[in-house]
Amino acid sequence: MHRQNITQNITNGGNKKKGINFIESIIEKDLAKGKNDGKIQTRFPPEPNGYLHIGHAKAICIDFGVVQKYGGVCNLRFDDTNPTKEDMEYVNSIMEDVRWLGFNWGNIYYASDYFQKLWDFAVQLIKAGKAYIDEQSSEEIALQKGTPTRIGTNSPYRNRPSEENLDLFNKMNKGEIPEGAMVLRAKIDMSNPNMHFRDPIIYRIVNHPHQRTGKTWKVYPMYDFAHGQSDYFEGVTHSICTLEFVTHRPLYDWFIDQLKEFYPKDVNYRPFQYEFNRLNLTYTIMSKRKLLQLVKEGFVKGWDDPRMPTLAGLRRRGYTPESIRNFVEKIGFTKFEALIDIALLEHSVREDLNAKAKRVSVIIEPIKLILINYPKKKIEMLEAANNPENDLAGTHQIAFSRELYIEREDFMENAPKNFFRMTPGGEIRLKNAYIVKCIGVKKNKIGTIEEIYAEYDPQTKSGLPASNRKVKSTLHWVSAEHSLPAEIRLYDRLFVVENPSEEKDFHKLINPYSLIVKTGARVEQELENAHPLENFQFQRLGYFNVDLDSKKGKLIFNRTVSLKDSKGKVFP
Ligand code: ATP
Ligand code: MG
Repeated sequence: MHRQNITQNITNGGNKKKGINFIESIIEKDLAKGKNDGKIQTRFPPEPNGYLHIGHAKAICIDFGVVQKYGGVCNLRFDDTNPTKEDMEYVNSIMEDVRWLGFNWGNIYYASDYFQKLWDFAVQLIKAGKAYIDEQSSEEIALQKGTPTRIGTNSPYRNRPSEENLDLFNKMNKGEIPEGAMVLRAKIDMSNPNMHFRDPIIYRIVNHPHQRTGKTWKVYPMYDFAHGQSDYFEGVTHSICTLEFVTHRPLYDWFIDQLKEFYPKDVNYRPFQYEFNRLNLTYTIMSKRKLLQLVKEGFVKGWDDPRMPTLAGLRRRGYTPESIRNFVEKIGFTKFEALIDIALLEHSVREDLNAKAKRVSVIIEPIKLILINYPKKKIEMLEAANNPENDLAGTHQIAFSRELYIEREDFMENAPKNFFRMTPGGEIRLKNAYIVKCIGVKKNKIGTIEEIYAEYDPQTKSGLPASNRKVKSTLHWVSAEHSLPAEIRLYDRLFVVENPSEEKDFHKLINPYSLIVKTGARVEQELENAHPLENFQFQRLGYFNVDLDSKKGKLIFNRTVSLKDSKGKVFP
């Protein structure tokens, strides 16, 4: 897989018409031709076996996006044909996440709604001599499949009479046959160059109750025997999926051809499958199976842990739906697999929050700063801009007093020449307040600095006509008395290597420092009533949001992303 060069214009996938991707261009052509009578219907078909992740967001954006753009309907379809792995918890989270991303579906469907119809269709195929029950083990069947360069071998059960096949199929579904002992296969062509045509398995026995159909069924259709069929039953016109299904497409079409015979619909109607490149992100795994492992094995605190690439995790981390949609728009849809730099996703949320987030002052590792010439009881309420990028955002007040906190790392006793922050004898400006000069420190017995002393200059209040004094830096601060305690959770990447999916065992690739908790932070009073998930810019520190566990008296914030990309510049 090549690393996609994200500085280059990739969003068009080689299309001549500017601003549209290749799928939109197909749709425009279909509309112009009046294909399917000008109807556009898509579906987003998740399997409810986990939470949605950022990769799914890409699929959602195209499935729902094209009907928003061209008119039509996109339905939500739960591809629930695998009862052992599926759960209603996942169904509910998927609905919440699609809505959160900003999309509305027409209908909600479940592949399990079609179990009867699919069974009937399978029975029809058996009767027509196009399907048979195979009693071989899955290993034997796999061996007989051949390879792309070597044709397959017919199963000894291939020419079983229809009545016998029907009888066994019924027995399979009554629970009379053990799991794995028999499967139903479509009888197509064991020498077809496309391996998917070599008598694909279309039904298998699963002895596990289904979360919607209970114990009604003991046999369940395979993906290839459910997906296109569901598309056909629902009236989907554009079945958009990822590139790994390219080789399935001829089989998709074959089954549609069969279906059209058994269930004639409008003669002009048929669904078509189109494939785009799936999203792969650096430092991220996207397989639901592995994400479930991270949850189950306790590497993260749940599906919505802010380090997870799930939509629930990203939401809790402070990502906005707009930032995710903009990201998808930027990476575009092509026909080539690529690995996208996660910095591009981070850039997207930074860009969105820069425009929207209120600026506040927070000290993560406080050290006390005492202004010895500032009156003891005096409190000034200073104006702080909510967002300098947006005049309409207004201001809020921040209390200033004699005792303040600043960041410990903003002070250095024996500073090198290029250290421009606070240092003995040096002057700095306190944001929205005054220029102050450090005059000394107090240390404890082991030499750790406990307090910094400074003098402020009343003539230099922000907003007064500029004095001719120049200072090299402006530091943020909070008032000791007026600030509130808070916990700050600093997140980093969950994996230490660029492409953790390439490694079979991801355990040794996990970043032990992916979460650092700072418990002694001080935040300005403005944050007292911040609501869950609200986004802020902590000045000079980054973008943060209110964690879902935060409450009055025990404030908790998550770092969404730092202010700048510190890991190397990857975009213009
Ligand atoms: P997994 O194999 O991890 O379970 P999946 O692809 O089987 O994932 P589904 O729930 O079947 O997950 O996916 C629903 C839809 O989302 C499918 O159309 C699928 O192609 C699409 N999708 C899944 N992962 C990605 C991805 N990384 N990028 C783009 N689309 C994706
Ligand atoms: Mg799937």
